[in-house]
Amino acid sequence: MVDLKNMTIDELEKFFVDIGETKYRAKQVFQWIYRGVTNFEEMTDLKIELRKKLNSIAYISSLKIAQKLVSDADETAKYLFLLDDENIVEGVAIKYSYGNTSCISTQVGCNMKCSFCASGIGGKVRNLKASEMVDEVLIMDNDYGKISNIVLMGSGEPFDNYEEVMKFIKIVNNPFGMGVGIRHITISTCGIVPKIYDFANEGLGVNLSISLHAPTDDLRTQLMPINKVYPIKDLIKACKYYIDKTHRRVTFEYSLIKDVNDNYEMSVKLSKLLRGLLCHVNLIPINYVDEIGYKKADNEKIIAFKNTLEKNGITCTVRRELGSDINAACGQLRRKYLAGRVK
Ligand code: SF4
Repeated sequence: MVDLKNMTIDELEKFFVDIGETKYRAKQVFQWIYRGVTNFEEMTDLKIELRKKLNSIAYISSLKIAQKLVSDADETAKYLFLLDDENIVEGVAIKYSYGNTSCISTQVGCNMKCSFCASGIGGKVRNLKASEMVDEVLIMDNDYGKISNIVLMGSGEPFDNYEEVMKFIKIVNNPFGMGVGIRHITISTCGIVPKIYDFANEGLGVNLSISLHAPTDDLRTQLMPINKVYPIKDLIKACKYYIDKTHRRVTFEYSLIKDVNDNYEMSVKLSKLLRGLLCHVNLIPINYVDEIGYKKADNEKIIAFKNTLEKNGITCTVRRELGSDINAACGQLRRKYLAGRVK
């Protein structure tokens, strides 16, 4: 049995031609899938014989909501999705003035072991299929409200699941499906340098965000072990290549952790590192994670850090704190849910 949700429109066209049908059927079925239909019987513009044929050779996969929490403070909704193999992944839906954003996971767990992140604690279990990532968005679209922006910033390193992530982008961007604009999709990476070059060469126009979190190799390696493999110099070089190739700015994510990377010296070093680069810095007051113990930087430190960057000509924003009452930091809710499930 083949899962039609895991196909781009081109793959679906080939599928229908291979089973002796016209290409046009692909467009019809694609549209049904992205209206949330998972049963061929409901696809009333298909001949009954074709519906029967599809029932015998294909299916349309669908995740289930295992848990949903909505923040009283800001309406941010956190979802736990149950996969076919009983694994659990997280997604978050966030309301902004410019529309709803869904933050999705790309892997079950993560191998990158960033020291501030709950998703890396248990390591990677497996990659998500494109259809599973699509379904995270589709379910939030149906349940939370129209999703107009997607960020791949949940559990998992997107560039460690490169092929499926590229397929996911093609599917959600297709106008016959969800039609999410390419400029409304953002991939966040911890810095897998060779994949940044590959991604630049795709010429897609998707936004690139880099989890930087430290301006020196010593500190970044402590926070993010990937830095041992791809140090800052190589990472910045790859970002320059991406900017030259796409003419698009890169966003650098910098989580401000109390007494770790929030001091004046770090803000000056970060300014020097990024000076002259077409970029934007997103300063993130870190969410507290029980098992890790890092604390959010004090508000005065956050403001001072931002001021130093701006004085040095680096544009930056402080990310609004969202869903702190519902464990909205990456991997937190999943870990709590799994701990409860084994009791
Ligand atoms: S921050 Fe991202 S890359 Fe790092 S461990 Fe967490 S999910 Fe993985």
